[in-house]
Amino acid sequence: MTEMVYFDNAATTRISRKALDTYNMASDAYWANPSSLHHEGLKAKSKLDECRKKLSLLLAVPEDTLTFTSCATEADSIIMESFLWAPQCGEVLMPNIEHGALTGFTRLFRQKGWTVTALDAPQGFLDPEDVRRHLSEKTRLVLCMLVNNVMGTIEPVAEIVKVVRKFEQETGRKIHVHTDATQALGKIPFSLVSLDVDSAAFSAHKLHGPKGVGLLYNRNKAITALSRGGEQEAGLRPGTENLPGIMAMTAAVEDALDNEETNLEKVRHLNALLRERLSPLQGVTILTPAERSSPYILNISTEKYPSEVLTRMLYDKDFCVSSGSACSNNAKQHQGTILSSMQVSPKQSRGSIRISLGNDNTEEEVMALADALSGLLGGD
Ligand code: PLP
Repeated sequence: MTEMVYFDNAATTRISRKALDTYNMASDAYWANPSSLHHEGLKAKSKLDECRKKLSLLLAVPEDTLTFTSCATEADSIIMESFLWAPQCGEVLMPNIEHGALTGFTRLFRQKGWTVTALDAPQGFLDPEDVRRHLSEKTRLVLCMLVNNVMGTIEPVAEIVKVVRKFEQETGRKIHVHTDATQALGKIPFSLVSLDVDSAAFSAHKLHGPKGVGLLYNRNKAITALSRGGEQEAGLRPGTENLPGIMAMTAAVEDALDNEETNLEKVRHLNALLRERLSPLQGVTILTPAERSSPYILNISTEKYPSEVLTRMLYDKDFCVSSGSACSNNAKQHQGTILSSMQVSPKQSRGSIRISLGNDNTEEEVMALADALSGLLGGD
């Protein structure tokens, strides 16, 4: 095989032609600062407003709940920092399986005097009943990602929020629920309104948009800015907006949502094919549960090689997969925590690789990967 075959779509996706064309066109035609009051600035501002309006229609949420950010990490950080600097400490329920963009705040919260309660996700799933048991009069923030980036499991966000809202009614206390939906948008259908979360984080580059642009949904007016400076984004995210990135992200989100069902069907089929081909291989365990998981992510474990070795052997054969989340490649410990929180044994965790599919993968590519794995894992 001479061409690289890409199965690392959870790390990032290739920018689509439409998003790239939009980016280039916008860089040329709408380069002015949207905060400038001259004609060119007003032109840029009207495009910015258009994007927010389109995204608000696509996500079925009010325009003033959407803030453009530089990435999902920044969207997560705005929420976390806002609580971190709040005058009163409290408790945050922090699932062990969250992305480092959130778990990375654990030490800071503890230093500030907060209680950080870690939650496990046995078999890959958070348990609403476990959340209920841990809610206390101190709880101010509950985190619950929608699709786990390592395993692909779809977490029961709506059920967890129901439990939290019931507790709020009983105690008269307000609790903010944040979901990191970075691996969900455009891949699995969901509604922010039905989930009833207070905030959510998204990233353009996970759905064939450009790098360096993300989106925060937030309906909690008490959330404060992470940075200081201008009044852009209603003061919640100061700094000149990345208009070409925002326009390209809007095009990518529109495309992803318009084609979500068709792409989902296709990727479901590829996932099933991969499972069918890999399950019989000796020493291979499919870690991602067959039910309640996104078909875009398949985590497997092999007995024969540690994950870093097998991924390198696959790179040599021009297959791009991942030994974990790209962001945690330098933080193996975090990766281990996520898998052990899902009750994956240390042995299986050492041999775990993540195959993340995209809507541009083909059956031939899936067969070629299965053949390559079969070749590498067979024999001595
Ligand atoms: N959250 C999740 C669940 C992710 O998978 C990622 C990317 O790997 C991020 C956050 C960070 O996204 P970004 O690169 O846009 O900061």
